[in-house]
Amino acid sequence: MLRNRLLSLTLAVLCAASAASARRPGDPFHPGFNLFSRQQDIQLGQESAAQVRKQYQVVQNQFLQDYLKRVGERLATTKEAKESGFNFTFTLLNEPSINAFALPGGPMFVFTGLMKAVDNEAQLAGVMAHEMSHVILRHGTNQMSKANFLQLPALLAGAAVGNGSLIGQLAQAGMGLGLSSMLLKFSRSDESQADLLGSHLMAETGYNPIEMARFFEKLEADGGSRGPQFFSDHPNPGNRMKAIEEEIQGLPQRTYGYQTGEFVEAKTQVARIAPPPKTQQAAGARENLAPPSQAPSSSWRQLRGQAYNVSYPGNWTAFGDSSSAAVTIAPREGLVQGAGGRTSVGYGAILSYFFPDGARSSLAAETDDLIHHLRAANAGMRQASPSQRHIKVSDNDALVSMLASDSPYGGAETDALVTVSRPEGLFYMVFIAPQKNFEQLRPTFEQMLGSIRFQ
Ligand SMILES: [Zn+2]
Repeated sequence: MLRNRLLSLTLAVLCAASAASARRPGDPFHPGFNLFSRQQDIQLGQESAAQVRKQYQVVQNQFLQDYLKRVGERLATTKEAKESGFNFTFTLLNEPSINAFALPGGPMFVFTGLMKAVDNEAQLAGVMAHEMSHVILRHGTNQMSKANFLQLPALLAGAAVGNGSLIGQLAQAGMGLGLSSMLLKFSRSDESQADLLGSHLMAETGYNPIEMARFFEKLEADGGSRGPQFFSDHPNPGNRMKAIEEEIQGLPQRTYGYQTGEFVEAKTQVARIAPPPKTQQAAGARENLAPPSQAPSSSWRQLRGQAYNVSYPGNWTAFGDSSSAAVTIAPREGLVQGAGGRTSVGYGAILSYFFPDGARSSLAAETDDLIHHLRAANAGMRQASPSQRHIKVSDNDALVSMLASDSPYGGAETDALVTVSRPEGLFYMVFIAPQKNFEQLRPTFEQMLGSIRFQ
């Protein structure tokens, strides 16, 4: 049953990919495989937008905010934007890097650094049209769906019947914490789609689409050094100018040259904005660069997971409960926000179930399969020796596999993987710490392991 479901999901992903390649210039675009409902895109975007407004300084200049809104709302009058059913909003943030981003369901944020870098209004409209296209094509939730297609269906079904925060639910399942997960790296094919659909939006509203390509090429001319942030979120699909030119050939003939007439004034006013205080420059910052300094407390708490109970130090936090596909238990500083925007666990434990691809087999074979998947998802992971030993967990045979990978704090990381074959699937725990801290944490990890009781 599960197997068939996986197969059909995999096929859906493959079909979406092949349909995209058969497209001719000018043809419409269709959003790819997605497990989120449109309403969930909107909810996720609104929750994340609230975080963005706390993390960044919103520019307090009504003329500039109105100007941005005027350009954005013009793009939102296009057929494609209207048909998406999303409500687009536009906010200028005081942030010096050359970037802009849009969240699922429509909230778009433009940095003052971008406004300073564009040469004309069509270039600004170009970046905004590109961002709007990511929203229309639902690339953010599509990426999350593809990356988490095992865990997401149950989680989203659970979220649909509850009233809690969707971000919170995703965080509990280990799918990034809030904002960072929205700023996923898009794929190159997402980028080329956003360029091409963006060129439609521009053409329909009278902006010359070639200005979008010109701006990206300008950013890239000096080795991308002027727009490193933008290109790290939006990898260059290559040959942008040529691809956009070909796309325009497929569109009805139009005359370009629309402008609001306020561009020069907007550039003047944006140049006068003082940079934000240092602490507010959140973009690209790495949080929690050192492992937690506080020792695990001696008072313990208990968590009820999916068909198991586990105890953990009272000063750590459990992200997840019995409805979560995966539970992360760690001190707050054990979660590390990487430069790519992904949150990883550098110090703590993850508990979850793995569903092997084929029929159920031996503990050793299923563990191998899991390690194979973990390694595929984590390029730096390698199996250290001595590799495996057998233990008992709650009277069940269990296998301990010692793995090594790269710590998000820098240096080597030790990952102790414990697997137990259970009727629900292959139960696993990964105990994670920088190699140099692992021994110190071992008694805590062993006590957690000893507290496991299957129901
Ligand atoms: Zn992009």
